[in-house]
Amino acid sequence: MFVKRAVLLMLVLLLMSTDAFAGSKRVFVTIGTGGVTGVYYPTGGAISRMINKKYKEYGIKATVESTAGSVYNINAVLSGDLEFGIAQSDRQYQAYHGLAEWSKLGPQKRLRSIFSIHPESITLIASIKSGIKRLEDLKGKRVNIGNPGSGQLQNSKDVLEAAGIPLSSIHVEQAKAVEAPGLLQDEKIDAFFYTVGHPNGNIKEATSGRIKVRIIPITGKGIEALLKRYPYYAKTVIPIKFYPKAENTRDVESIGVKATFVTSADVDERIVYAITKEVFENLEEFKKLHPAYSVLTKENMLQGLTAPIHRGALKYYKEAGLLKYIDPALIQ
Ligand code: GLU
Repeated sequence: MFVKRAVLLMLVLLLMSTDAFAGSKRVFVTIGTGGVTGVYYPTGGAISRMINKKYKEYGIKATVESTAGSVYNINAVLSGDLEFGIAQSDRQYQAYHGLAEWSKLGPQKRLRSIFSIHPESITLIASIKSGIKRLEDLKGKRVNIGNPGSGQLQNSKDVLEAAGIPLSSIHVEQAKAVEAPGLLQDEKIDAFFYTVGHPNGNIKEATSGRIKVRIIPITGKGIEALLKRYPYYAKTVIPIKFYPKAENTRDVESIGVKATFVTSADVDERIVYAITKEVFENLEEFKKLHPAYSVLTKENMLQGLTAPIHRGALKYYKEAGLLKYIDPALIQ
C-alpha cells in the first residue's frame, strides 16, 4: 500500500514538474507565409504542425500568418514582428547583401537562414484570347507583375528586362497573387506572373475557369544571359500534369529559385534548434504534407542558402552530422 502511494506521489510530482517546465518556458512563435492559395501558406502549416506535436516537450506553439510574401516576411523577421518567415532564396541573398528592395537600407546582417524547402518557378499565365505565346508578346498587354512585398515582383521585372520588354510598354498591375486568377478569369488582366512551387491552388484556379489559359515558357537568349548574370536563378520545369485544363500539351520550361526558411539572429537558439530538429528528424512525414516537397532531401535542404545559418539550427546540424553539406561561409 505504502509503495503504491509513493509511486503515485512520484508520478504526480513528475507530471507537475513537466507541466511546470512547459508552463514556464512556453513560447508562441509566428511564421510569415504568403497568399492562402500559394505553397508558403501550407508550408508554414506543415512546419508548425511538426513543432506543435511536441508541445509537451518544448512548450513551443507555432502559428501561421498569411502575408504579402517574401519581402514582407524578411522585413517582419528583421523588425521582430514575426519570429520566422518563408522567403525566396534570391530575396534572402538580396536582403543579406543590401540589394534590390534593401539597396537603401543596406545589408541586413541580422538575417539568418535555417533550411531551404521546395523549388519555385517563375510562372507566367496568359489567357488564350490575349494572343500571348511568348514573353515578347507581353508588350501592350495588361500584366500583373506582383504586389509590393512579394517575391515575384522583382522576378517579373528581371524577366521583362531580360526579354527586352520595358515596363513602360505594358499596362502594369500589382495585385496580390491570390487575386490574379480572378482578374484573369474576369478579363481584367491578360497575364500574370507568380513565383511559386507546383502544384498549387492558385494556378489550378487560373487554369480551370471559363477563360482558357496557357502557361508561357520563360526562355530565350535574354533569359540565358540572366541565368549567367544571377547565380540564384536556375532552370526549372513546370509539370503540366498538375494543370490538365491548361492549353499546354507539354511541360513548360522556366527559371526559378528556392523557398527558404528564415529568421533573425535575435530569435532564441532553443526555439530554432527544436524546429530544425523536428523537421529534419521527421522529414518523411513532413514530405507527405505537400506534393511540392517530394524532391526534398536533407542534403538539398542545406543548399541555396546565403545568410549565415542560425546558431540553433547549426547546433542540430552538428549533432546530426550534416555540416558537410553546408557552405562553410555560412557557418559563423
Ligand atoms: N514566392 C512568393 C513570394 O515570395 C510566394 C509563393 C507562395 O506563397 O507559395 O511572395
